[in-house]
Amino acid sequence: MKAGFVYDPVYLKHDTGQHVENAERLKAIISHLEQTRLKQQLTPIVPRAASIEEIALVHHKQYISHIQDAAQRGGGWLDADTVMSSGSYEAALYAAGGVIKAAEAVMDGEVDSAFALVRPPGHHATSQRAMGFCLFNNLAIAAKYALAKYGLDRALIIDFDVHHGNGTQDAFYDNPQVLYVSTHESPFYPGTGKIEETGSGAARGMTVNIPLPAGCGDAEYLRVFEQVVVPVVRRFNPQLILVSAGYDLHWADGLALMQVSTTGFSQMVGIIKGLADELCSGRLVFSLEGGYNLTALAVSVKATFDVLLGNHDIEDPLGQSQRGFEAPSIGNLVRSIKEIHGLP
Ligand SMILES: [Zn+2]
Repeated sequence: MKAGFVYDPVYLKHDTGQHVENAERLKAIISHLEQTRLKQQLTPIVPRAASIEEIALVHHKQYISHIQDAAQRGGGWLDADTVMSSGSYEAALYAAGGVIKAAEAVMDGEVDSAFALVRPPGHHATSQRAMGFCLFNNLAIAAKYALAKYGLDRALIIDFDVHHGNGTQDAFYDNPQVLYVSTHESPFYPGTGKIEETGSGAARGMTVNIPLPAGCGDAEYLRVFEQVVVPVVRRFNPQLILVSAGYDLHWADGLALMQVSTTGFSQMVGIIKGLADELCSGRLVFSLEGGYNLTALAVSVKATFDVLLGNHDIEDPLGQSQRGFEAPSIGNLVRSIKEIHGLP
């Protein structure tokens, strides 16, 4: 089993200072992969900068110029949450290009699966707006690129970041070639991702939102994966699976209120990998979104690679949630989602 990873120090040039989304996140992941000797089991994939034309698969050219100009002026705040520096434009081009290269490596059969360890993250960025720490929508760009380059009819995006990927949903809301499935905490930032948002026109039913109440842990996530994600993905029968992998649903994460453990991540990734093996020759591309507790992030990304490599020993040094929230009841929610999407 060959698993690739994309990383480059260019991603550290997106300098956000004391912001929670900072360069220490990638440094923590890489150093943990080195310390545990997992990195040597992975195939490095060298990123490149995405071209303007590639970024423009998702974003307006005027917006791309705005980000470029902002970097030339030394950066600054783009909205209340999102900050950039002089190096951010270059890092953002390489982040999108990194996911493109990961998708190419998988589609060309150089690796079985790949994980792009990039920043800035992407899933909140809309066609003309930076938000939620995101500048360009890396995974949406790579999905559009792969659909065009390889002549695919059906690509799946699974987004398990604790926040709803509003930018990704927007990018494919009327596109029947892409099934977008998101689990996210609700009510929560950015406020989108209700179950009634299902896509428009020919793409009605192609957006599947699973808004979960705060406090959900491994059991609740596994339940929605088994009862909603698996059947809806099998019905769609994708030719490529892309994953917006955010780790801010870990119980130790300070930004959200979920209770997922590293073991829970490994189980979710195992289900996704099982779907890829069953439906599309294992073609699976991960891209890093959120995750702000450095230890939880590093061990959970490693657990993800372990699953991709077929390793069975998953280390979970942080263990189960110490938050002690009572697990919420999600039976009615699951029933409603199944009904809206016509699932048995
Ligand atoms: Zn997030």
